[in-house]
Amino acid sequence: MPIKLLDKATIARIAAGEVIERPSSVVKELLENSLDAGAKRVDVVIREGGIGYIEVSDDGCGIVFSEVLLAFERHATSKLSSFEDIYAISSLGFRGEALPSIAAVADLEMLTAARTEESGTYLSLSGGEMVKHTRMARSPGTTIKLTRLFSRVPARLKFLKTPQHEASKVSEVVLSYALAYPEVKFTLSIDGRNTLNTPGNGKLRDAVLEIYGNDVASKMLDLETDSYRSSAINISGLVSPPEISRSNRNSLHFFVNRRLIQSRALQKAAEQAYSGLLMVGRYPLGVINIWLDGALVDVNIHPTKAEVKFSDESAVFTAVQRAVRSVLVEKPPTPHIAEEA
Ligand code: ADP
Ligand code: MG
Repeated sequence: MPIKLLDKATIARIAAGEVIERPSSVVKELLENSLDAGAKRVDVVIREGGIGYIEVSDDGCGIVFSEVLLAFERHATSKLSSFEDIYAISSLGFRGEALPSIAAVADLEMLTAARTEESGTYLSLSGGEMVKHTRMARSPGTTIKLTRLFSRVPARLKFLKTPQHEASKVSEVVLSYALAYPEVKFTLSIDGRNTLNTPGNGKLRDAVLEIYGNDVASKMLDLETDSYRSSAINISGLVSPPEISRSNRNSLHFFVNRRLIQSRALQKAAEQAYSGLLMVGRYPLGVINIWLDGALVDVNIHPTKAEVKFSDESAVFTAVQRAVRSVLVEKPPTPHIAEEA
């Protein structure tokens, strides 16, 4: 076959495959955009595991009319102006790939209104092609609705699991972010059922209460900086005491500078901190926030940004392990018995 350039739609669908694997990847990207937009409230609605319908609505900064179309261009972002910026980046997004990728594999409607403009903007796209683009009223913020996810990419559709399984993956993403951003109110509705409603009051323990219930929330241990203060790495969050555990590894959530990450090494660091305290096959739950200078972590090594690379991995590993271990072995304060004179 002669060499020829692929058409635009094909290029877009191929590229989308890197970022958008399943419904939960769509929700993750949309949530990150809402958080980057400074939302104080994010509402997620899915049906049929997200394959039927996904909606993410926020009260963030919105997008001005003149930039709405640009937001759907590949590599268009408001978050980065030079490559070096990614080492000091405080936003979750920076690649400018989520919206065009999502639009390439679904039918999409957006209603957005910028705080700075009188009126909002409505846009609908089908398979990446514009259907309608007009002014429409909305209070400041952005709503994105998706249908027919992957209907033009049958191979992807086939690879998805049951709607229940996909819904549980979506749920996992939403509750992870609810734990990372306790100052934001998150709701999640699955097939018409409200499954999550965090208070958004800024208290991590209250977000844990909503997600794991009162018993867990009241017993979780605070990771405190003081006991293991190291020069460049700080750890905060909540971890379970040994009497609370799970039979799977999904319940320990790691965030680096508020970015949700997957890391076998860090999972292992935390598990080692529990060694001798948990039965075989039991795993801790909790939230471990790692804070370090952006220059010491590369966030640009993975298309979905799920993995990061630390310049000194073993220092981070040690910091996590020490932080967790120190609260586990900490003696409970001995009750102070007032001496009666
Ligand atoms: P990135 O997040 O990497 O910049 P995206 O494709 O996810 O790329 O989004 C493109 C741009 O669209 C963002 O940089 C932002 O300016 C704008 N945007 C996307 N979602 C929202 C939202 N919910 N609220 C406000 N602006 C948004
Ligand atoms: Mg984004």
